[in-house]
Order: sequence, then structure tokens, then C-alpha cells
Amino acid sequence: MCPGMNQRFHIGTVHLVGAGPGDPDLLTLRAARLVMHAKLIVHDGLIDPAVLELARPGTRMISVAKRRAHHTMPQDEINALLVREALAGHDVVRLKGGDPFVFGRGGEEAEACRAAGVPVEIVPGISAAMGAAAAAQIPLTHREGASVVSFVAGQCKGLTEQDWAGLAGKGRTLVIYMGVKTAPQIAEKLMADGLAPDVPLAVVENAARPEMRVLRAPLAGLPDLVEREKVKSPALIIIGEVTAREDSALARVALETVA
Ligand code: SAH
Repeated sequence: MCPGMNQRFHIGTVHLVGAGPGDPDLLTLRAARLVMHAKLIVHDGLIDPAVLELARPGTRMISVAKRRAHHTMPQDEINALLVREALAGHDVVRLKGGDPFVFGRGGEEAEACRAAGVPVEIVPGISAAMGAAAAAQIPLTHREGASVVSFVAGQCKGLTEQDWAGLAGKGRTLVIYMGVKTAPQIAEKLMADGLAPDVPLAVVENAARPEMRVLRAPLAGLPDLVEREKVKSPALIIIGEVTAREDSALARVALETVA
């Protein structure tokens, strides 16, 4: 093949890379290698600076979330940016918190790339649920506690219409992403679905980061806990008996702190 032609029509690859919950040690080797060799990184606001610091000096960094102005680039524009850069011949490392395919809109970005003829690679990451479970030593499943685990979004179109019936309760663990702001509606919704007010839960704020907090309450106490402790995003709400197991030293310490 003619090398000139090849160069002229080179299309970059978009790597949709999961950056995990924060700690760079929780990146996959593939993610770390991509970040270290990237020429262009497009990242969202949840990416820990320590992860971005793995990149070489001079790497072009584009943030699609300007946190201070509380303004995030609309999804269409992010899709267009990825496609434009790839069609211009640039490989793009698109860094997303946790896993790209768990509440990360990775599906939309991959579709936009494929529609434009841009090759896409998905690099999985440790989703917040796994990061929080490990860091807070809360097993999401347990032979004596839970054989089902579900992930739901606490902030989504029509929260009240979402059918969560049967996702929480005996033998089941429910993990709620993006649920801090809607905590009162979440507690109300679950109790209206028949969940007992004393079902134990844990709120894990800043999981896998030095400032992590693990807070516990019964379901009915969730709104008060979030308000009293001024819980901030990013945080996960884990509901179920597994959060009340006292088989880890860390869990005991956290319980004492909150009590
Ligand atoms: N793709 C991501 C989720 C993005 S949605 C993943 O797989 O983890 C953003 C939500 O993820 C936050 O609102 C919060 O609920 C959760 N989250 C992300 N990072 C977190 C962290 N370090 N600790 C606790 N929750 C986190």
C-alpha cells in the first residue's frame, strides 16, 4: 500500500477507558498504559488528578466538565469532539470514571464513533460499586446475606416511575449511583414498594480515595443521614443486609464513628 495514502486517510482510534473510582492503583494495566502513552486525553470531571498525572508532559488534555461553572459539555458535543479528533487522525483516550459502560454514557459515545466509521476500543474499569464495596469492606454478595446485586441510577428521568420492585430486600443488595440529591425520594420510593424502614444501608462517599467516608443508617434514616453528614457527590448508597455484617475491622470502626 502507498504509505502516503495510508497517512492521508489515517483515522484515529477512540479508546473509551474506565479510570476506576479514583486511586490510580485501581486502573487496569491497559488503562494505565494508554494514559501514559496518550497524546490526547478527553476526560470528565470525576477523574482523580492523580490519574491524569500519569500522562506524559505535553499531552493534550480536554476536560468536558467545567466543574466550577457547573457546566458540562452536552453529550452531542462530546460525541462530535471524539469523532472530529479521530477523523483528523488522532488517537483519543477518552477517560471516564469507573467503568465506561456503567452509567457512563459509553454506549452513546461508542455508537457515535461507529456511525462515523471511527474504530472504538472499550477498556473496562472498576465501577464505583466494586470500588466502594472493596474499600468499605462490604461484600456485595455473601452466601449468608445476598445472592442478587442490582445497580440503579438514583437520578434519572422519571425516578418515581422507575420499577425497582424486588431489587432490594432479603437476600438482595441494591447499589444506587447518583442518589445523594434524591435520597429522600429514594427512601420514600423503596418503603412505598414494601421495603422495611429498618433495612440497613451504607453510604460510601469518595470511595477508594483518601477522604472516603462510610456512613450507616437504617433505610428510614437515609434522608437525615445525608443532610446531617452533608454527604456530597460522588457517593453510593448500598442497601441490604451485607452492609450490616460486622465481619471486618473497618466496618466496626465505621459503625462506631457514626453511632
Ligand atoms: N461510570 C461510573 C459511574 C458514573 S455515574 C462507574 O462505573 O463508577 C457517577 C456516580 O458514580 C456518582 O454520582 C456516584 O454515585 C458514583 N461514583 C463514582 N465514583 C465514586 C466514588 N469514588 N465513590 C463513590 N461513588 C462514586
